[in-house]
Amino acid sequence: MDLYFYNTLSRKKELFVPVRPPKVGMYTCGPTVYNYAHIGNLRTYIFEDVLKRVLLYNGFEVKHVMNITDVGHLTGDRDMGEDKLEKGARREGRSAWEIAEFYTRAFKKDLAALNILEPTIWCKATETIADQIELIKRLEQRGFTYRTSDGIYFDTSKFPDYTKLSHQNLEALQEGARVEKNPEKRNPTDFALWKFSPPGVKRQMEWDSPWGVGFPGWHIECSAMSMKYLGDMLDIHCGGVDHINVHHTNEIAQSEAATGKQFFRFWMHGAFLIISGGKKMAKSEGNFLTLEATFISKGIDPLVYRFATFQTHYRKPMEYSQDAVTAARNGLAHLRNQVRTLRSDSEPAGTDPEFSDKFREAVNDDLNMPRAMAVVQELLKSGLEPGVKLATVYDWDRVLGLKLEKAADAGRLPDEVLAKIEARRKARREKNWELSDRLRDEIQAMGYVVRDTKDGMEVFRP
Ligand code: AMP
Ligand code: ZN
Repeated sequence: MDLYFYNTLSRKKELFVPVRPPKVGMYTCGPTVYNYAHIGNLRTYIFEDVLKRVLLYNGFEVKHVMNITDVGHLTGDRDMGEDKLEKGARREGRSAWEIAEFYTRAFKKDLAALNILEPTIWCKATETIADQIELIKRLEQRGFTYRTSDGIYFDTSKFPDYTKLSHQNLEALQEGARVEKNPEKRNPTDFALWKFSPPGVKRQMEWDSPWGVGFPGWHIECSAMSMKYLGDMLDIHCGGVDHINVHHTNEIAQSEAATGKQFFRFWMHGAFLIISGGKKMAKSEGNFLTLEATFISKGIDPLVYRFATFQTHYRKPMEYSQDAVTAARNGLAHLRNQVRTLRSDSEPAGTDPEFSDKFREAVNDDLNMPRAMAVVQELLKSGLEPGVKLATVYDWDRVLGLKLEKAADAGRLPDEVLAKIEARRKARREKNWELSDRLRDEIQAMGYVVRDTKDGMEVFRP
């Protein structure tokens, strides 16, 4: 079945075909590890995980690279301000290396809690400095760079298609770039490839280079690492929408300027998580909610957040609120109960091809998860055999990643309870309400909750 993704480059849904089928090269911009990830960042990583799972579900082999930005991301995206890592180190009285290590570990813990599949390759900016220097040298040889008092810059006026990803006109991009003034730049949109350590300052993270001691600019790392690890399998590159105008635009300019070839063909961007009132959640604004604070420490399964994100298409902003969390909590509990109830008296047996086509149609249509979740409910409420429903929903969980099989097995009921459930079903069919009520009381006395819904009886541990 065909697979369609919305490509920011063309602003259209396009048929997805990788360079070397069945392999797919995918690069996702990773975190800047100077603080915890907030649940907005994590929304983007869940979207990317669904993307990868949908590729796998369609039989592709995915080579997924994710970088860790552990140097060179300045507090302003436009090459002014402090290095976020060194700033974080000062804030916490630790070294920049310790900060990076600590928040990388915290990030990986968040990914695991959300059942996000690990990338095939993790790579760090600080471990690929030589590759970044090589790339800057190539740009220098091709005449795209110039030197200022604080670094080596990329001259965006020499790259003709600079606005092809953002679709903004150049004036609008330049206006955005003027916020941070740097009088030595030739064009407001020019960006640093290499920054010099400030005179008389010994930075914690700095390296020798042909241009002087310093550190790489933020954008160059993603170009260097994606080419290093993916070679020519430059199929899909993704991140949040905030990366379109600066980070990804600059990655494309410097990569295509260096190689003379197209960089990635598909650019996919996840919309923001916003908090009520429309404000975006941002690490730099300090208004952020972590997974630990909002879910884990309150005893809420973090997969509730994963489930919550499926209610909004990834290209639409999602509003975070307590009500949304409550709805997702109930929704996931209900789904798990449905699956547990099926599992209580049946084994998974053969997926249903018609429903599976419907599900695949939804996820293959630019990851339409709200539609896919509706198909899940249609399946569970259908008249199919319980074993078929179970096998089908387990198969789909390869995309959903909600650990349904585990939840069902953990809630698998003992034989005495199953016998009482069966007896109660029979009593109800025979309209023997007295017996039905007595059996319900007996099951509850054994420590289970019995709920009669329009789809049948649900029995689970509270
Ligand atoms: P950072 O660690 O700041 O580089 O961000 C990590 C990822 O989260 C990037 O792909 C960003 O585009 C994305 N991101 C940042 N803020 C939000 C937000 N409020 N909602 C969704 N994604 C976000
Ligand atoms: Zn990046």
